[in-house]
Amino acid sequence: MTKNKYLTWILSILIMLVFCIPAFTRVLLHQDNILYLVWSIVLCVPLVYVLQHIRSKIVFCILFFCLMMLSGTEMFFIVGQKCLVQTAHIPAIVTSPHAESSHFLDNNMMYMACTLPQLICGITAMVIRCMLPSSRCTSLRRCAAAWLAVLCALVMGGWLQVAPYNIIKCCALAARQGYTKHRMVPMAQGMTFNATRPDTGGREYYVMCVGESLRAANMGINGYGRPTTPLLQAMDNMVSFTDFYSTATLTMYSVPMMITRATVDEYNLNYKEYGILKPYRECGFKTIVISPGKLLTYEKYLTRGADTVYNVRKDAVIPALVDSLTQAYPKVFFLIQLYQSHCYFANFTPEYDRYHPNLVSDKESASKDLLVNAYDNTVLYTDYIMSSIIHAIDKPDTRSTFLFASDHGEVLDMDKPRRNQAHKDAARRIREIRHEPVNADYLFYTACDMADITIDSIYWKPEYSLLSPEFKTHERKVMLPDGLSVLRPKAKR
Ligand SMILES: [Zn+2]
Repeated sequence: MTKNKYLTWILSILIMLVFCIPAFTRVLLHQDNILYLVWSIVLCVPLVYVLQHIRSKIVFCILFFCLMMLSGTEMFFIVGQKCLVQTAHIPAIVTSPHAESSHFLDNNMMYMACTLPQLICGITAMVIRCMLPSSRCTSLRRCAAAWLAVLCALVMGGWLQVAPYNIIKCCALAARQGYTKHRMVPMAQGMTFNATRPDTGGREYYVMCVGESLRAANMGINGYGRPTTPLLQAMDNMVSFTDFYSTATLTMYSVPMMITRATVDEYNLNYKEYGILKPYRECGFKTIVISPGKLLTYEKYLTRGADTVYNVRKDAVIPALVDSLTQAYPKVFFLIQLYQSHCYFANFTPEYDRYHPNLVSDKESASKDLLVNAYDNTVLYTDYIMSSIIHAIDKPDTRSTFLFASDHGEVLDMDKPRRNQAHKDAARRIREIRHEPVNADYLFYTACDMADITIDSIYWKPEYSLLSPEFKTHERKVMLPDGLSVLRPKAKR
């Protein structure tokens, strides 16, 4: 064999390695079986063939570098997250701030080392390709290209979820989502809910609080073995829903559906329409958003209609901020997003460091309970933060309501200190339906109803308000991280 032939063979093997290392790692980490690796290798053959026969060295290097970076990203997820890349990971990495994206990338330099073999193989492959002469396309090569096109079609159709091919589909879907958002966000310009409400004198404060990663199962108020919510439980006008589902498993999909009329079936409404801030503003409320560097502070379109957006450093400062704002304005609607129980469960102060050993204080311990104990400490701390916010709005001669739901947990708490008969009826009704299967679809309408806001009938769905006598349950759906697949959780009883 001539020297060029040897080099061509080495090049093929190196390209193969760059693309098959993720599948090999998955098998090594027992995330999949050997058949998965075989599939990955078989599917790589046409890719290797086509790449090798790209005439221009520069085109080869650019294309191969991009594919190598994608394959490297896949390695990060396989090692760090123990899963393949999902559509939502791509915009999350590209557009979200460091705190959010590092959650996906795990912020661990160890995982960077995992991509080293790929990088070495990839760079060597590019050097070898530059040493080889340019080849010419034959009919056989065109056949390989056709095979590759078929493979791409299979991947795009969702039939092949094999690394690194799955990334192609993820990128395409992420690009489509980005384009849809870019096209639809301007459509909300000038829309109005024609919101009205009975003119009530006096001070009124309403809070819609978006939680983070708070599981109903770990809350004392829902029957958890540990008293993780002592302060909320002590409030007698608190109702906790026992069968509440969020509508997505990821913050970036879930929060938009919580604060707008969007649902899993009509997700684009979150772009095309204003959210819950708008009807409150139309009714003369001061509308204030408070978020510790989470989705609501960097996805600007979600806070259209806010008078002020406060990007705070941590949950701890929120109760005092709410308190000072209620002293400054007579009628305020607060949209608050908490940091709460976000990974890796370090959001608690020393007073709430109750359960041990945990991830934060006892790193050297090998106990399996490290995660759960740290998590429960965050729940205990959240109990303190939420009850402090409730105390901040619950002032004498003031009407106030606190509505809470977690972005991907299972809880909805309500505090309804109301005086007249209609409000007593609503409070009684909400206690009666607290075991009904509900989800985040109800939040926008309930948030309007808690301040007696009536919006244009084309937007209003009375059966979607937990406070309405016309309340009805409907089939619940949960959007998965690919932004397409849907789960249908069953009612608990
Ligand atoms: Zn979240």
